[in-house]
Amino acid sequence: MARRTGTTERGSSAEALRLVGVTKVYGAADNAVTALNDVSVSLPTGSFTAVMGPSGSGKSTLLQCAAGLDRPDKGVIMVDGEEMTGGTEAALTKFRRQRIGFIFQQYNLLPTLNVLQNTILPLKLAGRRVDEKLARETLERVGLGGRLAHRPDQLSGGQRQRVAIARALVAEPRVIFADEPTGALDTRSAREILFLLQEAVNVHGRTVVMVTHDPVAASYADSVLFLADGRVVGRMVGPTVDAVADRLAHIGDPVHAQMREV
Ligand code: ADP
Repeated sequence: MARRTGTTERGSSAEALRLVGVTKVYGAADNAVTALNDVSVSLPTGSFTAVMGPSGSGKSTLLQCAAGLDRPDKGVIMVDGEEMTGGTEAALTKFRRQRIGFIFQQYNLLPTLNVLQNTILPLKLAGRRVDEKLARETLERVGLGGRLAHRPDQLSGGQRQRVAIARALVAEPRVIFADEPTGALDTRSAREILFLLQEAVNVHGRTVVMVTHDPVAASYADSVLFLADGRVVGRMVGPTVDAVADRLAHIGDPVHAQMREV
């Protein structure tokens, strides 16, 4: 796989995302659940990280907190060298809109807007200049150049997810969070989406964090973070499908529970 050779974007930090001691507890007293337990992670700019772990291990909570959609109870989250934690709801929304992109399993496109309008919507919401040429070029790049005026219901699932990727890319976010982005797709469409995410990282220098339960999807990432019981219990660099599946199968074993935190 060709690695990006250019420098990082001017003005951007070498570290795209840092979590320090992030803890999130749901509920109170007797029925409190510690969804994230003192998680510390550092992800460099231009990296593609998959987050895996058993159901209930804290993957969604990690993504929600790291992406500024939810607030941790303790700890600090830095995006591109700037602290996100704290501040008002409006400040958090602004921070998110300027720095973070999302790709969801169910695409989250607005049904009444066409492909081009959906793609530029986050820029409009953020009150940013809309570079329609860049939006068209990006849609071209993801193979939707001929579909700009189509509405989501006129597209296949794979095409809808490609709109979501273009929408995330045109805002030039510091980190793109993808939550099971291939979960609703057939094998071929899933592969196309994973290639596009790889390209966003390797060619365009984006940083992608992807929650997935699928070892095949995870094998497209540069590294995998494994969660269990709200903690990071391992990290695999250069994941292969078999190695990821094997690690997942043994994630509750004592040897893995004792792995060094990252
Ligand atoms: P995963 O994405 O790995 O399946 P989650 O982050 O969804 O895990 O959940 C981690 C833990 O936190 C689970 O025990 C879950 O039941 C609990 N949890 C998640 N969200 C909530 C919530 N809104 N209220 C109460 N408990 C929650």
